[in-house]
Amino acid sequence: MEASASAEGGGGSAARRSSPAAVQATNDDAAASKLSCVNKGYMKDDYVRFFVRRPTRRAPIINRGYYARWSVLRKLLHEFLIAGKNNDSEKPKQILSLGAGFDTTFFQLQDEGMAPHLYVELDFKEVTSKKAAIINHYSEMKEKLGSEASISIEKGEVISTHYKLFSADIRDIPKLDSVIRMAEMDPSLPTFIIAECVLIYLDPTAAGAIVSWASQKFSTAVFFLYEQIHPDDAFGEQMIRNLESRGCPLLGINATPTLSHKEKLFHGNGWQRAVAWDMLKIYNDFIDSQERRRIERLELFDEFEEWYMMQEHYCVAYGINDAEFSAEPWLTLTVGSRWLKSDSTYLQ
Ligand code: SAH
Repeated sequence: MEASASAEGGGGSAARRSSPAAVQATNDDAAASKLSCVNKGYMKDDYVRFFVRRPTRRAPIINRGYYARWSVLRKLLHEFLIAGKNNDSEKPKQILSLGAGFDTTFFQLQDEGMAPHLYVELDFKEVTSKKAAIINHYSEMKEKLGSEASISIEKGEVISTHYKLFSADIRDIPKLDSVIRMAEMDPSLPTFIIAECVLIYLDPTAAGAIVSWASQKFSTAVFFLYEQIHPDDAFGEQMIRNLESRGCPLLGINATPTLSHKEKLFHGNGWQRAVAWDMLKIYNDFIDSQERRRIERLELFDEFEEWYMMQEHYCVAYGINDAEFSAEPWLTLTVGSRWLKSDSTYLQ
């Protein structure tokens, strides 16, 4: 990561201080935070506990933030997975997770009877080897893959009919091409690409190349991002300092500091439509209100000012390419029957 990040000149000295091990460690943090949420009843995930050695209790504000992150992705995935379900010509669906870390969404969807035809995950080999070893060790996970599954801890690979895990540096575009061929992904099938807290750690040129590659590769697709915004105010500066001091600077944040920059990242790299929302709006207007009421009763919560600030510094953005149904949007951030644009105006 150091060599190519500093060569691109994305963040100067910050780029030189970026360490792959430190970026990989953010994945351990994410797993520990998700487990903290699960243990408090925010959400169900029967698998994340296998990936956390020492469970910790996170503050209510962290739990609520992770819940919002989990909930928005889950809601969009469901919309994608049920799109066209009543249609005889419904095509099999694919999910491709870039920098998937220890995410367990495939296993959860499988339990819910919602798993797509193919779910492919990529990450650095250090991470995929550990993930492969854990999947291999716990029968609760291994059994979900079917008896024909093959697991190589050494290569950091899992190959089964519906789930595949491969090691890849996602900045290496030819490798992305070869890995999706190896995974037997069909670029013409509807594909949901996930990059949750991943592209922002990359040099902006590399992030742009990945977004562009995906739009050229998959003709009917959604590219979903969840990551930080607003580096320029006091909260943003502190957030950046914290991550820099841990060795994982947000190399991409100055290239895409606002919601409209996130939309431009998609529009400028071949995507037909793009939407970006901050997490405050997602929490207040997109997450199911009954669910919100339920989780707000789980813990005493009095960090409102901090909460608003934190949520304004994270966002969801996605691009859509729709080769077949371009007149009728088939995935939108739906609020009732309307969909909301990032500037808070409603489209009917
Ligand atoms: N998406 C997961 C993990 C986020 S942590 C989640 O939301 O829970 C970021 C992950 O991105 C880490 O697992 C890290 O190893 C991976 N990552 C960062 N840069 C990468 C690269 N160039 N190639 C492959 N994976 C990368």
